[in-house]
Amino acid sequence: MSSLKEFIAGLGIVDVHEHHLPEVFSNREVNLLQLFQQSYAGWTRARPYPLPSETRDSDPMLAAAGPTTWEALVPYLEHCGSNCFVRNLVRGITELHGDGKDITRENWEALEAAVRERHRQADWCASVLRNAGIERVITDPYSDPLLNAHEAFGKHYNSVLRINALACGWHPDSRDHNGNSAHSLLARLGLEAASFHDYLAALEKLVEDLTSRHQVALKNALAYDRDVAFDEPDEKTARQAWGKWSPSVAERKAFGDFIVDHLCRLAGERDIPVQMHLGTAIIRGSHPLKAASLVERHPRTRFLLMHLAYPWSRDLLGMAFVYRNIWLDLTWSLLLSPSHFKLALHEAIEILPDESRLMIGGDNWHVEETYATMKLARQLIGEVLEEKVESGYFREADARRLAARIFKENALRFFKLT
Ligand SMILES: [Zn+2]
Repeated sequence: MSSLKEFIAGLGIVDVHEHHLPEVFSNREVNLLQLFQQSYAGWTRARPYPLPSETRDSDPMLAAAGPTTWEALVPYLEHCGSNCFVRNLVRGITELHGDGKDITRENWEALEAAVRERHRQADWCASVLRNAGIERVITDPYSDPLLNAHEAFGKHYNSVLRINALACGWHPDSRDHNGNSAHSLLARLGLEAASFHDYLAALEKLVEDLTSRHQVALKNALAYDRDVAFDEPDEKTARQAWGKWSPSVAERKAFGDFIVDHLCRLAGERDIPVQMHLGTAIIRGSHPLKAASLVERHPRTRFLLMHLAYPWSRDLLGMAFVYRNIWLDLTWSLLLSPSHFKLALHEAIEILPDESRLMIGGDNWHVEETYATMKLARQLIGEVLEEKVESGYFREADARRLAARIFKENALRFFKLT
């Protein structure tokens, strides 16, 4: 019989979270420097979202990359070389394009040539996903929240509808941190919102038509726009924001709270899952307990809470024990800190009420990073399960059953993928 590690290496993956965007993922002109800039390694050099105290002109991840030179790579490889995002990406690039070791002054030009040539091949991305054992992908294409991923990437893709713009849609000119306008999105679907009442009705239509765009969930990434304290809806103050170019802080918050509550109720009535980013982001407001009242007000809504709410994993696990409408997407937490991930996964296995609760995604832009992330996921989850078996916590058969659920079966059921 094969070892637990071999068993895990052979599992097919339903990848519940990526940022595969047509303009980045399907771009045929990609160089080595771009792979660093358009990945979490890029976040070591420039955080791609502003804090409330900052402004930005454009998203550095979506800006054109310059030519690859050794001097341009050194800041990533040496200055930021200890960071896990960098280590993960270097592993992906060298395994797919080189000798699997390192990027050096001697070999970078050969790697650059290989990256450019492979990305010009029409089948490159699909072949890497196959190689990584990824069978289905759910992408969050935040540059176009209405993207039909089936049409953009093929039948093994679905997408989620990011709701950030909707929660910031008090005025036709208001936009979320990705630059999306709710009113422009609605107009593309022929929906008009001349009044607050019309707006709520248009959002209902948007949710009703999710399946026509092969969208399988709502995605709340508002932790990048505001805090996640989605309080009891206050319709009066929310309505005061409507039509204003610059509503007060209290009016904006009430508007966002009201819209998020409305969408969570619509999702619950239709049994559509809601993904929510927790942790890091605008870090003063992203603690998972701030979102507890939203989860509690909507017991029929299935929430998929993301990233183990790093660095507050234990608080999130406590919530997932108390509120039985919480599922956990392990995505990104393993890239932020593999050491913390292993500790948190040990605890998650112990405290979660049943084996349906855990899922995994890559959370990446280019296929090299997705490949490396899923390899890391198999390694770390394998190590934790092996430790659990060795300590006598459960038997190897239990570990195998749980692994198959984490990598694939839970996601198929949770998102009702056929
Ligand atoms: Zn993400």
